[in-house]
Amino acid sequence: MDDAQYVEHAFDGDVHVLRIANPPVNTLRTAVRQGLLDGIKRSLKEGARAIVIIGKGRMYSAGAEMTEFNKPRQPPSLPEVFDAIENSPVPVVAAIHGSALGGGLELALVCHARVASPGAQVGLPEVKRGFVPGAGGTQRLPRLIGAEAALKLIVGGDPVKAEEAVKLGFVDAVLEGDLEKAAIVWARDAAKSGRKFTLARNRKDKIEGTDLAAFDAAAAALLKRSRGQESPKGCAAAVRAAVTESFDDGLVVERQQFQRLVEGEQSFALRHVFFGEREAQRIPDLPEGTQPLPVKNAVVIGGGTMGGGIAMNFANNGIPVTIVETTQEALDKGLARCEANWERTVKSGRLSQAEYEKRRACLKGSIDLNVVKDADLVIEAVFENMDVKKEIFAKLDKIARPGVVLATNTSTLDIDQIASATSRPELVIGMHFFSPANVMRLLENVRGAKTNAAAIATATDVGKRIGKLPVLVGNCDGFVGNRMTGKRTPQVEKLLLEGCLPQDIDRVMETYGMAMGPLATGDLAGLDIGAAVRKARGTVAPIADAVVARGRFGQKTGKGWYMYDEKRTRLVDPEVEAIILDVAEKMQVRRRKIEDQEILERLLLPMVNEGARILEEGVAYRAVDIDVVFCNGFGWPAWRGGPMFWADRMGLKAVRDKLALYAEQTGDANLKPAALIEQLAAEGGTFAGLGVRKAA
Ligand code: NAD
Repeated sequence: MDDAQYVEHAFDGDVHVLRIANPPVNTLRTAVRQGLLDGIKRSLKEGARAIVIIGKGRMYSAGAEMTEFNKPRQPPSLPEVFDAIENSPVPVVAAIHGSALGGGLELALVCHARVASPGAQVGLPEVKRGFVPGAGGTQRLPRLIGAEAALKLIVGGDPVKAEEAVKLGFVDAVLEGDLEKAAIVWARDAAKSGRKFTLARNRKDKIEGTDLAAFDAAAAALLKRSRGQESPKGCAAAVRAAVTESFDDGLVVERQQFQRLVEGEQSFALRHVFFGEREAQRIPDLPEGTQPLPVKNAVVIGGGTMGGGIAMNFANNGIPVTIVETTQEALDKGLARCEANWERTVKSGRLSQAEYEKRRACLKGSIDLNVVKDADLVIEAVFENMDVKKEIFAKLDKIARPGVVLATNTSTLDIDQIASATSRPELVIGMHFFSPANVMRLLENVRGAKTNAAAIATATDVGKRIGKLPVLVGNCDGFVGNRMTGKRTPQVEKLLLEGCLPQDIDRVMETYGMAMGPLATGDLAGLDIGAAVRKARGTVAPIADAVVARGRFGQKTGKGWYMYDEKRTRLVDPEVEAIILDVAEKMQVRRRKIEDQEILERLLLPMVNEGARILEEGVAYRAVDIDVVFCNGFGWPAWRGGPMFWADRMGLKAVRDKLALYAEQTGDANLKPAALIEQLAAEGGTFAGLGVRKAA
């Protein structure tokens, strides 16, 4: 395809249309920029009265071509294209359908006017990729809608609908019907009527008189949420410059922030996760043309903590779903929990009453397992017990139509054993949701030895339809996330024994960026669960066992690794320190001060080591799949890129040496470097460089 074809030039009388044609998302790659520049010049030369810029296919433009970021920049630059648009003596109108994001929206903001299809999405998500809008977005948007409103959109990074954008003032009109035709009429009328458009760069009305103190207070409140992430700060600084500087000087501030951030470690990490999330959707060994089975409704077995949340996902997305429970009482409780959850969202203003009613109407309940006979998909979420699960799967197999997928939400049990209770093991798959299941984005889909392509395609497709991020993993104890996290636990116990207190460990992990440290997380989940697992497996953890022995089960008993007040505020409890010191003394351990770096390494390295084993076994296809799991289901900050990314950045030689050192120092055999780490360290390789591994 030559450059000209990336932007099609069409005419309707004296209105010229430039159609961006770079499927699938019309990124502004070099050829598109060149095509737009040529198109503007040609339109003007040929006497156009107005010019419409529109996207071909499913959207206007998703913005810059991020794969060009790490390469030498090719002319023309976006600012060069933008100059041509702003200098055009005839109006240039952006016509937005689907979405205009990032550089795509900036290309619209520079135009003389913007029209959009109903429901089109417009926004500047750059902050989520670790940088700031770099083509004038931070300067033009405040001039169109005011500094504080722009700050919210740019620091938040979430798009808004065209209708909202009209209210805010950065889209001029929402046009019904065929957008290209409607935009041509709109542009022609505007040109004919001699309507004067003021370019965004020349607008002053919305930023003059901005109360800087109020702006700074709003920025500080927004930035509080982003903790260690740098790009929100950069965004706020650039938007502030729209108020304090001239347009051109503001652009300089924006460019400095952009350059600094786009080359930084955090943006690299965020882009790694962003591309990884797309990559994880590609399942390498799925035969081409594999179609998901049609799923128009679902049945969830068990309406407890997980079952209720899982069912809500379906109802939230308009898919009828029925919860099956054993007793009317349990069912009523389960349904009431879903209702209460939705009602809270209505109260907070994030859900309309009408939408709530729509969702509620999609959710049904039954205490008769026979409702499964009409199900297109069954997801089991009953107690974590193999005998119970096998009994249920045997029944489900008899009732469900042949060809229907039977999924389990087990977090630890063997999928193959569960599948063996049915006559259709090829249609049994794990769909491992994370708590709270209606909120957490991660869905680990677990393939059993016999799971077929259609079942995998179905679980993937359904996962996406209910707003989850499905990652396909292999069948093993704990799958990817819990298996790796489990390897951290012995080090937590050892660190406590050797010199740390719970708050030291949590502080290090939270400073690193984790939503919650491992001990606070334990308190939330319940310490009795871990104790029961240890008992079943015949293992001991002297400190954790001593804490549980005092009835300290975590938040639910008001005491665990911490104590909690009535607002569930986490407070340090001297009794815990006493327990720890007592156990250490009995075990004759001489406690020492442990540096933060050692704490961090001893918690992350065992996970990386297990991640390497997971790759050796083909339980995950790619290292980035593991990172995606952690960033979407385990509170790992995306701006840190995930555990495997962390290891690659440290260098696998250093990872191997440190693992070997800690293995020796702590006597934890699990820390002996995995064969894959030894191999990559010797070769100078990286996890990322491994590419796709064969499935288990
Ligand atoms: P839960 O105890 O809250 O709920 C289980 C529900 O299943 C109960 O309401 C019970 O009445 C119902 N039930 C039991 N037998 C049944 C049957 N024969 N038919 C219908 N309903 C039946 O448990 P949970 O936390 O929701 O866990 C459910 C499953 O999800 C387990 O396999 C668990 O390992 C897994 N899981 C839990 C979490 C978590 O954080 N809680 C996370 C991921 C996966």
